[in-house]
Amino acid sequence: MDYNEFYKQSIDDPETFWGTQAKRIEWRTPHSRVLDYSKPPFSKWFVGGETNLCHNAIDRWVDKQGDQTALIAISTETPDAAPVEKTWSFRELQREVERTAAIMQSLGVGKGDMVLIYMPMIAEATFAMLACARIGAIHSVVFGGFAAHSLATRIDDAKPKLIVSADAGSRVGKVVPYKPLLDEAIRLASHKPAHVLLVDRHLSAMERVAGRDVDYAELRQKFMDAKVPVTWLPSDHISYILYTSGTTGKPKGVQRDVGGYTVALATSMDYIFCGKPGETYFCTSDIGWVVGHSYIVYGPLIAGMATILYEGVPVRPDASIWWQIVEKHKVSRMFSAPTAVRVLKKHPSELMRKHDLSSLKALYLAGEPLDEPTSDWIAGELGVPIIDNYWQTETGWPVLSIAKGVQDKPTRLGSPGVPMPGYKMKLLNESTGELCGDNEKGVLVIEGPLPPGCMQTVYGDDQRFVNTYWSNFSNEQVYSTFDWGIRDNDGYYFILGRTDDVINVAGHRLGTREIEESISSHPNVSEVAVVGVEDKLKGQVAVAFVVPKQAETAADPKARLALEAEVWGLVDKQLGAVARPARVHCVNLLPKTRSGKLLRRLIQAICEGRDPGDTTTIEDPTSLDQIRNALKG
Ligand code: AMP
Repeated sequence: MDYNEFYKQSIDDPETFWGTQAKRIEWRTPHSRVLDYSKPPFSKWFVGGETNLCHNAIDRWVDKQGDQTALIAISTETPDAAPVEKTWSFRELQREVERTAAIMQSLGVGKGDMVLIYMPMIAEATFAMLACARIGAIHSVVFGGFAAHSLATRIDDAKPKLIVSADAGSRVGKVVPYKPLLDEAIRLASHKPAHVLLVDRHLSAMERVAGRDVDYAELRQKFMDAKVPVTWLPSDHISYILYTSGTTGKPKGVQRDVGGYTVALATSMDYIFCGKPGETYFCTSDIGWVVGHSYIVYGPLIAGMATILYEGVPVRPDASIWWQIVEKHKVSRMFSAPTAVRVLKKHPSELMRKHDLSSLKALYLAGEPLDEPTSDWIAGELGVPIIDNYWQTETGWPVLSIAKGVQDKPTRLGSPGVPMPGYKMKLLNESTGELCGDNEKGVLVIEGPLPPGCMQTVYGDDQRFVNTYWSNFSNEQVYSTFDWGIRDNDGYYFILGRTDDVINVAGHRLGTREIEESISSHPNVSEVAVVGVEDKLKGQVAVAFVVPKQAETAADPKARLALEAEVWGLVDKQLGAVARPARVHCVNLLPKTRSGKLLRRLIQAICEGRDPGDTTTIEDPTSLDQIRNALKG
């Protein structure tokens, strides 16, 4: 079918389009209305319908293909890096999820209760997510790489009744204890969970808090034969929240529904990812990110596919490990990020070539811009289409891509593609709000209603949802993606970076304000600016410029190095190593406007060797020389 025609239908008559897509999933009660958009920008999809995410991911497949593989958990985080693997059929996964659901119920968790999941990439993490979905509890997964302060902020916002965690994770063979970080986070937070459910991997000794901490294995034994029926939920019941960074230091809880999300994932699995029941899907992301939620846990299972959960790095025991997995499990669709491909590109291609990759039909890449050399290299090695896709935590599924399941439209280098069904995209001039023409740079926005699967609101703060996303242009209410974009004559979009202070390090979204807040808590830091700077491998890295309180620090190379090391330690401890700046430079002055606003874009331009452009608003132009000198030194 002609994609343009198909897309047009989704925009011209969303109710008929999504009403048809809703039939892809099973409902306890069918919807009475496809869409309620009576209170823009809030949209409610499939009003009156009742369904369940876990039912559609597992139960519905148990009768049809109960013995087929559903989950394959592989870890190379083993002492000798040899892969250890365990699989569950749909029937086995159902039983395991019922056990976890029964444990949660025994701890007083039910419909509408919040469960925070802070876990490494182990099967129990997916059981916990699916168990929440089964009983209508709301999960909030926090990326395991985040440290105590980040975790505490999220605990205070989500106010979980239960936290599910583990003794430790492992990174490149090194044990990373989770429990001490979790204890510290709970100590820092004002909210205290009633219980902490702990999976003991016996990697690191744990101290338990009597009355609060409970053991997963012990309780699992108790609920071995538990039967926990699915709780049918109204379509707009909250399925989960997932925190993401923005312009302020306070992360936003992106809130998602049940019905719209399930339908959107089922639709995307067919039209974009072309997944078929019985095939195997391998997404290399982490369950702590949105890609992990949608395309490790829920999407593939909703499509009746087996999904691979991989704990480890792409180059250990060597750079062939992913291709070994593809060969062994006959992976048909794979999803990764450009940074991972750039890492693999540094290793000999023979490692890839020695494997039979004939099962693989396409590689999907997302999370950051895909550059031509990376795309060309991997396309040449794999001989399958490389499909870029652009989206955000907020949207839950691809906004721009190529829907090969509708029409085999060609991809275009440097472009993630064209708008996916239901996304009414526009580019607006940043200052006038006027519509941009072809090949004219503007802010990428989406006209409401957002399609099913996208965020419903900011958890607990409807006003913040409206103010942050829908109030950037005075002439019309549109959703801002905070990305710059450009569209060519044929309707392909190109993404040109963020319009706000969010940076993207190896596909991980980080707020520079959060990093700045952490660094300013150092006793010798009076001011700080953090910017994202282009990096060949990671896309971007964070670079910090600090004004030390003790002026002599800036002049003394030894003291500068010591301060850098202390700042690293501080960020590692508070936010986690993912947020650690690549470099910390000392200056005596930061470029600011006369009203005291930090000019981060000017700093970024200088770091990237670009012309900073108009500097007339700057209070003291010598501050730019300070940045230049700091970079030299
Ligand atoms: P996250 O919410 O962590 O998924 O990050 C979303 C942001 O990552 C977007 O707003 C973009 O800035 C960037 N991004 C995601 N996918 C792509 C892509 N395919 N090409 C360019 N930028 C991307």
